[in-house]
Amino acid sequence: MVRVFRDEDADLSDLKGERIAVIGYGNQGRAQALNMRDSGLDVIVGNIRDRSFAQAEEDGFSTYPIAEAAKRGTILFILLPDEVQPRVFESEIRPHLKPGKALVFAHGYNIHYGFLEPPADVDVILLAPRMVGKFVRELYERGTGAPAFVYAHQDASGKAVKRTLALAKAIGATRVGAMEITFAEETELDHFSEHFIAPIISRALILSYEVLTEMGYTPEAVLLELYASGELSEVAKAMAVDGLVQQLPLHSRTSQYGQLTYAERVMPDEEKAFIRQIVREIQEGVFAREWQMEQQLGYPVFRRLLKKALEHPINEDERRLKEKISIKM
Ligand code: NDP
Repeated sequence: MVRVFRDEDADLSDLKGERIAVIGYGNQGRAQALNMRDSGLDVIVGNIRDRSFAQAEEDGFSTYPIAEAAKRGTILFILLPDEVQPRVFESEIRPHLKPGKALVFAHGYNIHYGFLEPPADVDVILLAPRMVGKFVRELYERGTGAPAFVYAHQDASGKAVKRTLALAKAIGATRVGAMEITFAEETELDHFSEHFIAPIISRALILSYEVLTEMGYTPEAVLLELYASGELSEVAKAMAVDGLVQQLPLHSRTSQYGQLTYAERVMPDEEKAFIRQIVREIQEGVFAREWQMEQQLGYPVFRRLLKKALEHPINEDERRLKEKISIKM
């Protein structure tokens, strides 16, 4: 049975005497650093000297080069881009690890696939918010929080579990619920969302746009109907709050019937075979190996696909729509 931890399961005093070094002051780094400081923790920042470094200083943090922050901190949050972490870890962080320190990751990728191998005498912790950084901060400021996956993967200090729960509390996750799952499960589920759910939505929208505009519908109206009004994201919110099926009464009966009757036509049960194939590719590390290769070659496929997406006419129609209608969410 899955364990979900709430505020009452965690004690911030378990972090007494700890200095948290947030390494990487980007999307997650900034949000988590601000939340932890507001929760009363001693937080410093490590970053390369760039605009994020300046931002951390502007936000009032003692900010250092990465190696210096790694030296000063007892709990190190590794919040660098995943593809950067192994290299920076070896050169700037590993030399400053001491027995009993802790490493905290917001995504299991490098640990799960073995691209980064911490020494045995430090704690290794997963604290992975299921939310983009901006909202990790905004929700905390509103008195609530973003849910997170948590796991004390390696307990060298004997206090990894207490540290994990207290850190989850400090970023606001236990206000709503911190769910215990392994690095493996977090990584594979995260990739599944990225390899199936996100692309199926964006592909359905792009192909619908192409067909509808080819068939003479007004491009701006197509975009407004498909996603640009913000209705889709409000429905997604209702799915999270009320439930996938329970939110149906928000829609007209005609809409409900249309949705239910077309669901299996657009995606019959046989598609499960394809879904299983995607999961297996993730489990067997097919994607991880491909992504490593892509990085080594200088991102040729990534660049080509991004260029193609940016050149798609939908971008120009979005721009035209924004001149006429300004959506505020
Ligand atoms: P960002 O892309 O925002 O980058 C984090 C920081 O790393 C930035 O300060 C960035 O500087 C710095 N950086 C970039 N390149 C280098 C480099 N070569 N050497 C040293 N520092 C560098 O990362 P995210 O916050 O998106 O991701 C951090 C972790 O959080 C990852 O493990 C990710 O999977 C995880 N995560 C991210 C989520 C999100 O909301 N994006 C959601 C949940 C988990 P600069 O700003 O100058 O580029």
